[in-house]
Amino acid sequence: MIEFQHVTKRYEGQFTALRDVNFALERGEMAFLTGHSGAGKSTLLKLIMLMERPTAGQVLVGGQALEHTPRRRIPYIRRHIGVVFQNHQLLFDRTVFDNVAMPLEVTGVPPRDIARRVRAALDKVGLLKKEQLNPVSLSGGEQQRVGIARAVVNKPPLLLADEPTGNLDPALSTEIMELFREFSRVGVCVLVATHDIDLIEGMERRVLTLSEGQLTGDGPVSTMEGAH
Ligand code: ADP
Ligand code: ADP
Repeated sequence: MIEFQHVTKRYEGQFTALRDVNFALERGEMAFLTGHSGAGKSTLLKLIMLMERPTAGQVLVGGQALEHTPRRRIPYIRRHIGVVFQNHQLLFDRTVFDNVAMPLEVTGVPPRDIARRVRAALDKVGLLKKEQLNPVSLSGGEQQRVGIARAVVNKPPLLLADEPTGNLDPALSTEIMELFREFSRVGVCVLVATHDIDLIEGMERRVLTLSEGQLTGDGPVSTMEGAH
């Protein structure tokens, strides 16, 4: 689903954020991406989302090399990638339903299908009963689940999360991870960037570790540096 082949990213001003990174993630695989602040996690996610381009090497998504993607094709490719952010980026001037419907509205899905798909997504995150509320009235964990429903409403084969539990306590964080695990069980490839080692250790999944832009670890949790 995702493949990095000798990927190097050097930002203007010469800073090398990623250095010869190689890995592949399969359909239905769930993995963590970890490393200290500044290690290159966000840069790696941005390369997958086509928000940045590699300086050298290749990024493939769904078997397709992104290298020569024309600018006008980028929105189409992004539609197949669900993204969950730490600060969920919900709009507080509309309902939960309307927040989740947004990605469908921009792609011109008919209203009847929108209603069905939004409810299917809200059902998966356990928030069907709250569809008419304003997200302001929800707890932090619920707001993050709305963000996840919005990320999956298009049924993307690939789900990326950047510090999705940064503002949540351990119990709620675990709940969010269980949700991601369920998506991976139905075939979605899930990549979660986090520096929350305790959370990763509880999950028994593959861990990709970046340090100073290099992939220094790739394996089960037990092989992770600093794991106890
Ligand atoms: P992480 O997400 O692991 O904290 P980032 O990918 O955000 O790491 O950053 C990796 C390195 O690249 C950092 O040293 C950061 O300062 C640098 N960097 C990130 N974005 C840019 C940019 N747009 N221009 C220049 N340097 C950047
Ligand atoms: P429909 O296909 O009729 O819209 P659903 O939206 O309920 O029905 O989804 C059908 C099945 O597809 C469910 O079992 C769901 O878990 C699974 N599925 C596959 N890919 C995804 C995805 N990216 N996000 C959410 N569910 C998905």
